[in-house]
Parts: sequence; C-alpha cells; structure tokens
Amino acid sequence: MYRDQQIDQDEAEQPAEQTVYAIDTKAFEASGRSFQYAVFSRLCNRGHCSFCEDGKASPTGMGTPSEMMKAIGSECSSEPDFLLPGTPITEAVFRIMIKRNNKPMTLEEVQSELTSAWASVIYLKNLSEDVLRRLLEGKNEYYIVPVGVREASGRR
Ligand SMILES: [Zn+2]
Repeated sequence: MYRDQQIDQDEAEQPAEQTVYAIDTKAFEASGRSFQYAVFSRLCNRGHCSFCEDGKASPTGMGTPSEMMKAIGSECSSEPDFLLPGTPITEAVFRIMIKRNNKPMTLEEVQSELTSAWASVIYLKNLSEDVLRRLLEGKNEYYIVPVGVREASGRR
C-alpha cells in the first residue's frame, strides 16, 4: 500500500517533457571553426584502435564527422584518458556528445554519463542538474544548445 502511493507520487512529480541538448554543428562551423577537426582532435589517435590505426585518422585523411564520431563511440572513448578527472565539464560534455554521435541528450543522461566516467573523483565535482543546465543553456564555446524536448513517458 505504502509502496504504491510512493510510486504514484514520484510519477506525478516527473516533468512531462525534458529538454534535450546537442551540439549545434552549424553554429559551430559558422563561428569559423571546423567541427570535423574538433572531432578529429578527440580521437585517441595513437594507433590503439582500428580507426586510428589504419591511417584514416591522419591530419590529411580525416574521416567525416559521423565516421569519426562512430569510431570514438565504439573505440577511442574506452581509452582511460578519454575523460580525465581534470577535464573541464563543458569539454567532458562535448566528448560525451560526440561519443554518442551527437544524439540529443537530456540533462539526466549527461549527468549519468559524467557520473560513471568520474566515479572515482565524483566528490570533487559539482554535477547537479542546476549546474549542468546553467552550463548548457548559457553561451558555451562548444555550441551545445537546447534542441528540443522529449516526452517523459515512453522515453528511451
Ligand atoms: Zn582511436
């Protein structure tokens, strides 16, 4: 009885819609920087993974952004230094987003990725939703912006 009530209450408190965030690659390019190069420079690039190993990731032979994001998601991001404890939060969010092919993410999803990446140093970080929201809704040099909303029911 008590449990059921508890669940009802939790559901009632869930916001109906959650804002999702992504990198605005057009704005990124419009600022005069290359999104392709930005992704390229986050590859592990030391021949540790197949994409970086077979020469596709040389400065002359950059892959397309989506090709490189795929390699980062499947390989480079498992390198231990992909998200170091000293990585600034916005840089870390940028890396998480390219690792997930720049699919729009909720604050909750960003938060849980950061929390698991930084599990050992989490006491040093302030990763509250408020902090993340302020970071991503303010102007940031990575052009991470709110891109829409996702219905809370039936999410994922
Ligand atoms: Zn790699």
